[in-house]
Amino acid sequence: MQKVRYTRANSVEEAVALLEKGGATARPLAGGTDLIVQARERRRKVDLFVDIKPIPETNEITFDPAGGLTIGAAVPAYRIYGNETVSRLYPALVDACRVIGGTAIQGRASLGGNLCNSSPAADSVPAMIVLEGVANIAGPRGRRSVPVEEFNTGPGQNVLQPGEFVVSIHFPPPARNSGAAWDRFIPRNEMDIAVVNAGVQLRFEGDRVSWAKVAIGAVAPTALVVPAAAEALVGKPLSDATIEAAAEAARQAARPIDDMRGSIRQRKHLVGVYVARMIRKAAERARGG
Ligand SMILES: Cc1cc2nc3c(=O)[nH]c(=O)nc-3n(C[C@H](O)[C@H](O)[C@H](O)COP(=O)(O)OP(=O)(O)OC[C@H]3O[C@@H](n4cnc5c(N)ncnc54)[C@H](O)[C@@H]3O)c2cc1C
Repeated sequence: MQKVRYTRANSVEEAVALLEKGGATARPLAGGTDLIVQARERRRKVDLFVDIKPIPETNEITFDPAGGLTIGAAVPAYRIYGNETVSRLYPALVDACRVIGGTAIQGRASLGGNLCNSSPAADSVPAMIVLEGVANIAGPRGRRSVPVEEFNTGPGQNVLQPGEFVVSIHFPPPARNSGAAWDRFIPRNEMDIAVVNAGVQLRFEGDRVSWAKVAIGAVAPTALVVPAAAEALVGKPLSDATIEAAAEAARQAARPIDDMRGSIRQRKHLVGVYVARMIRKAAERARGG
């Protein structure tokens, strides 16, 4: 048996003080779907669980048409895909939240936990990146914001400093004539880790793509943004040729490993398939589909 302590933080300040005092073995606890498993299997030493769910800011979803969407870091997946505004304006988040684990996991698993666990295969991360998500962080030196695409620095590693935790994740309002989509490949229908995942956001001016962001996961130590894929699309009408050029750029950018879930060759191939699919789906959504 491992002796652990559990405590509830009721405010951001309280959580920061508890995490700072607790040191490296004090961990923020959101849904616990990664953390409790890791602690139980002794893959992570935890002396103190600091439950951040009682903090109101970590548990709210707020939207303002001018300011955008803010999702508390501990809001569970089912509340995100069950939110009417999120479903209507940010369907790429719904794409990802709907497939994290199964129903029971979605009752607990949060975007903050998915981000801070820093798995290269974390499903929500490419979706948050293409939606230009920004992590709002609190710590002993006050507050700061870090774009999701810069947050993770390696497998299990991120920019958080001692005493810091993510309070919420902010997304700008959707641009006019824009659409975004996310999907993943897994060998089974559910409850598996992505072999590849991909997110795309497109903005259009007339029939031309005016802006694009492409992010891929499970094919490098962190989720990757692929600027060359965006460049292959921007300034031109969408066509089979531009989509294939973007897919090829993503295949080139991917740096996957061989493991029991997939080979390098298979992952590179799948990156192209999923980026092409997400470009078409994002375009369909931008056109109101
Ligand atoms: C059966 C099963 C199936 C799963 N399926 C999937 C899947 O399909 N796709 C997928 O991506 N993941 C999957 N996961 C992994 C997990 O459910 C997700 O990563 C989930 O989003 C983690 O969120 P959580 O709230 O449970 O995080 P927790 O377990 O509470 O925390 C995860 C890590 O992040 C830290 N942390 C949590 N919140 C914060 C915060 N706000 N600030 C700083 N640090 C924080 C914790 O200390 C811990 O290190 C699965 C897990 C299980 C057990």
